[in-house]
Amino acid sequence: MKILVLPGDGIGPEITDATLNVLDRANTKFKLGLEWQMAEIGLAALKKRGSTLPDDVMNGAREAPGIILGPVDHLQYPAREQGGINPSGEFRVKLDLFANIRPAKSRMGVGLTGKPVDLVIFRECTEGFYADRNMFMGRGEFMPTEDVAIAVRKVTARQCNRIARVAFDWARKRRKRVTAVHKANVLHISDGLFLREVRSVAKDYPDVELDEKIVDAMAALLVRDPSKFDCIVTGNMFGDILSDEASEISGSLGLAGSVMAGDDACCAQAQHGSAPDIQGQDKANPTSLILSAGMLLEWLAERHKRQEFREAAQAIDSAIDAALQSPETRTRDLGGKLGTRAFGKHIAERV
Ligand code: NAD
Repeated sequence: MKILVLPGDGIGPEITDATLNVLDRANTKFKLGLEWQMAEIGLAALKKRGSTLPDDVMNGAREAPGIILGPVDHLQYPAREQGGINPSGEFRVKLDLFANIRPAKSRMGVGLTGKPVDLVIFRECTEGFYADRNMFMGRGEFMPTEDVAIAVRKVTARQCNRIARVAFDWARKRRKRVTAVHKANVLHISDGLFLREVRSVAKDYPDVELDEKIVDAMAALLVRDPSKFDCIVTGNMFGDILSDEASEISGSLGLAGSVMAGDDACCAQAQHGSAPDIQGQDKANPTSLILSAGMLLEWLAERHKRQEFREAAQAIDSAIDAALQSPETRTRDLGGKLGTRAFGKHIAERV
């Protein structure tokens, strides 16, 4: 099975190298039969080939059984007409990777608020307020005059229903509790539609409890006691913000794994950005991308009924847990001594 690997911008190549070091070990130990198909995207591809996501790479992504995507510095990308395509948004829409699944788990004991965190955020990621992907043609953002800007938010019953189903399926295997996060007190129609679909899906899961929270209260409740939450389902913008909050509360944004998945494809992606401020200094924490790659292995295990993929994912997860217990084997952002490369090597040895 050939996995497409796209290191991306900034710290992307460094954390991807560390991740492949771990995956190589898992590949050998669990006889996964994986191969890596490397391709260039981002600012390097723009310079050489005129696009941050060349057509052949996009076509490769359509064929790939799984993708590992490093962070991209899309704030620096030019307009689409000048070759600036955000690979993340493009994959979500064109490959129908509608479910962004972002666990937050305190791995160094308790989280930053002194309470343990173990929750998963399910974020619909193909519509909502994301102007670069919520229209068939054009962008969902425009300026009728130079002092007026308007953004359009798109919510469809189909996507709300699909993301709710993913959350309820996961909840069944976890603590059987889903919290739907919305702003239906203000966005009566659009978040009303979201809640209608979540409640309708909930009827098919009588064994799972559904609870509803308004997003601003949810931001506070997560700080007050994150242990009250298990599976959180929400739209694109709320999910983006709450997942960074949840992973930071769990210990650090650098610890948060993330995949974007559809019915037929899955892409592992670090939750953080390309961190240009520490690029090339062997300082980046590769945990987020390593855990994301582990989540991709779990997804492949389910999709292809391959138990050895699940065992490899569990071994990676345990190796990260064990390494983070001791400050000696943490990266510098967590007060440890290890650089990106040494941490990747250490995790590979523990797998
Ligand atoms: P960022 O997440 O890149 O960095 C925020 C801070 O966290 C920085 O100080 C950085 O050094 C630190 N940091 C991030 N990841 C780290 C890691 N693995 N180890 C240690 N420290 C880490 O956010 P930003 O600076 O706002 O964004 C930079 C670029 O990344 C922008 O172009 C933004 O659009 C893009 N971005 C991409 C993604 C993605 O590709 N999935 C996600 C978010 C932001």
